[in-house]
Amino acid sequence: MKKNLQRLDLIFKNEHDTKTILKKTLARSNDEVINDLISSGLKGRGGAGFPTGLKWKLAAEAEAENKYVICNADEGEPGTFKDREILSSVPHKVLTGMAVCAHIIGAKQGFIYLRGEYSFLKSQLLEIIDDFHGILDECGVNFRVEIFMGSGAYICGEESALFESMEGKRGEPRNKPPFPTDCGYMNRPTVINNVETLAHTYSIMKYGPEKFKDLGVQDSRGSKVFSVSGDTPIPGIYELEFGMSLQKFVDDFGDGDSKAVQVGGASGFCVPRKRFEKTIIGYQGKLRGTSLPTGGSMMIFNSSRSMYNVLHNYLDFFVEESCGQCTPCRVGTQQLLLGIQAVKKGEQPSVYLDKLLDLAEAMRVTAKCGLGQSVANSFSSIVENFREEMIY
Ligand code: SF4
Repeated sequence: MKKNLQRLDLIFKNEHDTKTILKKTLARSNDEVINDLISSGLKGRGGAGFPTGLKWKLAAEAEAENKYVICNADEGEPGTFKDREILSSVPHKVLTGMAVCAHIIGAKQGFIYLRGEYSFLKSQLLEIIDDFHGILDECGVNFRVEIFMGSGAYICGEESALFESMEGKRGEPRNKPPFPTDCGYMNRPTVINNVETLAHTYSIMKYGPEKFKDLGVQDSRGSKVFSVSGDTPIPGIYELEFGMSLQKFVDDFGDGDSKAVQVGGASGFCVPRKRFEKTIIGYQGKLRGTSLPTGGSMMIFNSSRSMYNVLHNYLDFFVEESCGQCTPCRVGTQQLLLGIQAVKKGEQPSVYLDKLLDLAEAMRVTAKCGLGQSVANSFSSIVENFREEMIY
């Protein structure tokens, strides 16, 4: 391991305080618990970054007989494998977060939507859930958790497509609004949180919001679990503080020859070496700013890598995983792939790349959901920064 690597252990610390946390929650008002979450600054760790406390507050305020809490464990972003590790090593923290949320919003039923490829986790999770139900009974919390298995479609990680698939329909995103806190699973108010987000709520409930808020910068508070892969001598899962520069990151994790880092998986941004110093890992400046949001995937590429091949790989993925519901994404992903192939073969001039950049930006504003909208992130950042690698 390289020197200066400062790993945190808020998430992975082996501690079992579920009963204490539940009893403490029951003794406090819902507003107090929600205010703790809001003041901690916790934002969703799946990538979108919506404030978690606000999400719980909206669902708590919604009027309905049935409400639901769903843990989104459909981790399918290329290069992301942190939720698998969290569910393997500290599942009770995720379940505790779900139970606290259920108590606050008034839900009696929860689900873990487990990625189809993670079916090997199912039996051990079922055992843990069984024990957990006993703790809930002891503490007087009327809440039950079931596992719903995904079937391997990336788009079902999108929350509304996830609801559709749970309801037995095609996994296609819905129009928004309405948002899940008003109209989610079975058209009832639903809190859907990422695995890591729920695990963080455990730490906030145990240690208080200040400890969490003391970590990170500005609008990016707390720690973040990263999946580090690619050209690194130390691939793996790391919990790090938000706010480090990408230069520091590659100094710690790179092999000394890093030319780019893909932050946030295929739907994130590819940052070239010249921008490492100025780029801060966090939620601010989502598009072309100096900071980057991330669901946790950090893929490092060294100078031996062809960025054309990297982009081709991403576009193959998007063509395969587009649900096909809207034209900009269904057709756009295919045209981007065919376009870069044509330029690389010399069948189109290099200026054709500018038309493809326009198409990608058009997809950003016209595609129905985050999949189609985010294709431009990797496409534009790779083509603009590694244009010479795209041409014949
Ligand atoms: Fe489906 Fe793509 Fe349209 Fe999303 S953007 S609804 S994935 S076709």
